[in-house]
Amino acid sequence: MASLRHPSRSDGPLQLALPIHAPASPEFVFARVFRRLGFRRAVPDFHIEYRPFSSLRSNIALKGNRARVHISDVLAEAPTIVLEALAEILLMQLFRRRASEEARECYMAYVFDPAVRRRVDEARRTRGRVRLLPARGRHYDLGEIYSRLNSRFFGGELSSCRIGWSTRTSRTILGRYDPAHHTITISKALDSESIPLEIVEFLVFHEMLHIRIPLERRGSRRVVHSHAFHEAEKAFPNYRRVRERLKKIFSQ
Ligand SMILES: [Zn+2]
Repeated sequence: MASLRHPSRSDGPLQLALPIHAPASPEFVFARVFRRLGFRRAVPDFHIEYRPFSSLRSNIALKGNRARVHISDVLAEAPTIVLEALAEILLMQLFRRRASEEARECYMAYVFDPAVRRRVDEARRTRGRVRLLPARGRHYDLGEIYSRLNSRFFGGELSSCRIGWSTRTSRTILGRYDPAHHTITISKALDSESIPLEIVEFLVFHEMLHIRIPLERRGSRRVVHSHAFHEAEKAFPNYRRVRERLKKIFSQ
């Protein structure tokens, strides 16, 4: 902080903050972006916290005039321009609008920086515990299914990975591959005699494809299920029928 007396005015000293060594506080950045975006409402009172999340997530919640923002602490060192981009993305999301291409590009460029990715993976490994139930369930043995599919569709070349049932019986998240932990989780909802074997196999196959086919980046978007992914998925016997059955079972 520097105090300067403006020579041409006599109405008291002018306080000027020099921005060079004092980066703007995140609250200040969010308020500035809020004004720039031209929302027709008063600037909320921002409360921003960096949290040790196990992933690169951030969120915002507005209650009255208080906006609570949680940002992954992996982003704590991010340059102001990235924080501005994130502020725009979160604020636009909050008001169900789409952030500008510039903001999304800027944020994604930072997030895809190899150094940042390494920090994210590190945070995942050390913080995110993937809780799993053993592969051998009540009806299906995921370990057995994995090695069977591995030799049948991947020439046995897929490295062995941790696989197990989820602790919660989710009917919306049926399967998940976590690259940081090299772990496949299948929802416990599928470990049931009412679920046909081919459905479980198909879900495991889908997650195995995530090991084989890396993420694609298209513009500012991460494409998890690329065209190549969908094409590879069709190698599963009776692909369409299985997908239909899957939809039927889980849309009830
Ligand atoms: Zn997937």
